[in-house]
Amino acid sequence: MTLPPDVHSAEPIPPAAREAIEALLQSGDLFRYTAAKDSPVALLEAEFAALLGVKYALAVSSCSAALFLSLKALGLPRDARVLLPGFTFAAVPSSVVHADCVPVLCEVGNNYRVDLDDFEAKLGGDIKAIIISHMRGHTSDMDAIMALADARGIPVIEDAAHSLGTTWAGRNIGTLGRVGCFSFQSYKMINAGEGGILVTDDADLVARAIIMSGAYEHNWKKHPVLHDAFARWQNQLPLYNLRMSNLSAAVIRPQLPELLQRVRDGRKNHDYVAARLNSSPYIAVPDALPPEVRAPDSIQFNLCGMNDEAVLAFATETEAHGVKVQIFGLSADNARAFWNWQFMPEMPELPQTRAMLMRACDVRLPVRLTRAELDVVAEILLDAADAVMAPAQAYGT
Ligand SMILES: *Cc1c(COP(=O)(O)O)cnc(C)c1O
Repeated sequence: MTLPPDVHSAEPIPPAAREAIEALLQSGDLFRYTAAKDSPVALLEAEFAALLGVKYALAVSSCSAALFLSLKALGLPRDARVLLPGFTFAAVPSSVVHADCVPVLCEVGNNYRVDLDDFEAKLGGDIKAIIISHMRGHTSDMDAIMALADARGIPVIEDAAHSLGTTWAGRNIGTLGRVGCFSFQSYKMINAGEGGILVTDDADLVARAIIMSGAYEHNWKKHPVLHDAFARWQNQLPLYNLRMSNLSAAVIRPQLPELLQRVRDGRKNHDYVAARLNSSPYIAVPDALPPEVRAPDSIQFNLCGMNDEAVLAFATETEAHGVKVQIFGLSADNARAFWNWQFMPEMPELPQTRAMLMRACDVRLPVRLTRAELDVVAEILLDAADAVMAPAQAYGT
């Protein structure tokens, strides 16, 4: 019998990382700017930019740091209003607060994507920048969002933390806005424990971000040559020191060639489990929008026709059988429920997003899971829904 898999353990790190780390430990060369050139962090930036087809990449300590630096590099004034979806991780509005700006939340639909009517309405409220958080890799309608933003000259930052490998109409997510930010935290497609990277084609923006990330004195010369852009900013900007260490880059680089396979496996696994779950009258997995090709390492679904009590009973039932389900709005102090972001300078009410969060479930599906393990997960979820909603049938009494 196949046991429920541990969905929180990660993929093993490829053996090539060991050699690179051993060499770093021998030389003690852990700081990205010690070597004259070709430090692991610099090589990672070049490889990542090539992988995504962008001009510039800057590796930093986390995706949150990348979002913060993006906002600072846009040169937003204090108290600038930044529009973002009401369904995201607390670190995203936090990055806005960190940058001395004011987060403004818009509604998100039952399909976890930005509600375009509310988005457009809130754009009228003196918005200076937009962060589109592709939460759990779900891509909002980027054609509509970019058209609305471009018409008003408002820059878009993509929070692509969980979207590495996702495409929209054949283009890489993270390359559609002015700047895109990715995460290498352990629950993302590439795992370094911690780490982030921002990508852009904007030389001036990346120059500012590089300096603020901690390229003090003339360390910026170790980045692809952008002399005009840099010369203007020398000594003009604060140094926030959010650099990546060579050790992290050594862990990340050998994973990059595995990305395509991970994306394919993750999508196949997700779509298999989604089809099984959609056979239940009590579970709905929203479809991707047509231009999106997803790169999932988890699955989200909505419970249908259940009250709060039934939803909680469903979670208790699945956990008793070995699959932990997070219900974004019902688990205590959840960092993805906007009403828990009590640090927000302005707290809106978002009835539609709130209703979605009260029924939306989250289960990790690491890309390494086997078909038998996926079946175990799907059956536990399906049986739990039946046990809660149709106990007579489930237990055959
Ligand atoms: C993980 C995640 C973040 C934060 O990334 P860190 O690297 O941990 O700062 C931000 N946004 C989304 C959508 C995420 O999934």
